[in-house]
Amino acid sequence: LAQLFRPLDMLGMVYREIKQGLIDMEAMFGLIDTPAEVADAPDAPPLKVSGGHVRFENVVFAYDPARPILKGVDLDVAPGRKLAVVGHSGAGKSTLSRLLYRFYDVTSGRITIDGQDIRDVTQQSLRGAIGIVPQDTVLFNDSIGYNIGYGRDGATRAEVEAAARGAAIHAFIMSLPLGYESEVGERGLKLSGGEKQRVAIARTILKNPPILILDEATSALDTRTEAEIQSALADVSRSRTTIVIAHRLSTVVDADEIVVLDAGRVAERGTHEQLMARAGIYADMWARQQADREKEEEEAA
Ligand code: ATP
Repeated sequence: LAQLFRPLDMLGMVYREIKQGLIDMEAMFGLIDTPAEVADAPDAPPLKVSGGHVRFENVVFAYDPARPILKGVDLDVAPGRKLAVVGHSGAGKSTLSRLLYRFYDVTSGRITIDGQDIRDVTQQSLRGAIGIVPQDTVLFNDSIGYNIGYGRDGATRAEVEAAARGAAIHAFIMSLPLGYESEVGERGLKLSGGEKQRVAIARTILKNPPILILDEATSALDTRTEAEIQSALADVSRSRTTIVIAHRLSTVVDADEIVVLDAGRVAERGTHEQLMARAGIYADMWARQQADREKEEEEAA
C-alpha cells in the first residue's frame, strides 16, 4: 500500500508546487481571469539584451475589444534609465507591465527590447531578462531562505544571504530563532507588507535582471520601513533599465522621465520640475497628495 501512496504523494506535491506558482503569477500581475494564450513564434530565438533599451511604439491594447485601455502609447526608456508611470487608478499603469512581460500581446503597435520585437523572441528569455517587484508578494509555504532562493535556481546560501543584505532583510532574518530556516507563508510566520516586499527585492537581486519593473505598493508603509525599502530599491535599480509603476508621487521625483497616463494616452511627460512647471494633471496630483499627507500628519499628531 505504501508503494501506491508514495507516487500519489509525489503527485500531490507537484500539483501544490504548480498551483503555488500560478497563484504567485496571478498575484504578481493582478490577473482576474486566465490571460489569453500567447505563444512563441516558431523557431523564435532568445532575446539578446545588449543594454536593455525598452520601447513602446504606438501601443494600443484592450482586454475587451469594446473597451480600449491603451490608445497609442509611446515610451522610450534608454539603457539604465528610470521611467516612472503615474496616473489615476485604472489608467492602465499595471497593464503596461503585463504587456512588457508578455502576458498579453498588444492589439497594435509594438514593444521592443534592444530593437527586438518581444513577440519574436522566446517568452522564457524575455521573462528571464525582466525582474518584477510586485505590489503584493505571495510567499511559498516554505522557509524564508527558500523564498528568497527562488529568485534563481541553484543559488547558494552565501548568495541568498548577500541578496538578503542588499534588500535590508538579513538582520531581521537573523533575529528569528530559526534564521533562514524559519517557515513563512500561511502556516508559518506572517510577514508584514514591508518584509514581504523586501523578500521580493532580495529575489530580484538574486535574479540580477537587466530590466526591472517596480510595481509600488498602494498601501502605505511606515516612514522608516519606506525609507529602507526605497534605498534598497535605489540600489537594485542602479544601472538597470527601470520602470516604476507609481501610486505615490514621493517616489518618482528622481526618475529620469515621468509619464502621466490619462484616458489611455500619455497626457504629460517630463521630469518632476518640468511637470510641476506645467501646472497640469501631475501638478494637481502632487498638490492633492501633499494635502492628504498633511491631513494624515495632523490626525496622527
Ligand atoms: P491602479 O492604480 O488602481 O493599480 P492601474 O492604472 O494600474 O490602476 P490597470 O490595472 O492597468 O490600472 O487597469 C486598467 C484597466 O483595465 C482597469 O479599468 C481595469 O479594470 C482593466 N483591467 C485590468 N485587468 C483586466 C483584465 N484581466 N480583464 C479585463 N479588464 C482588466
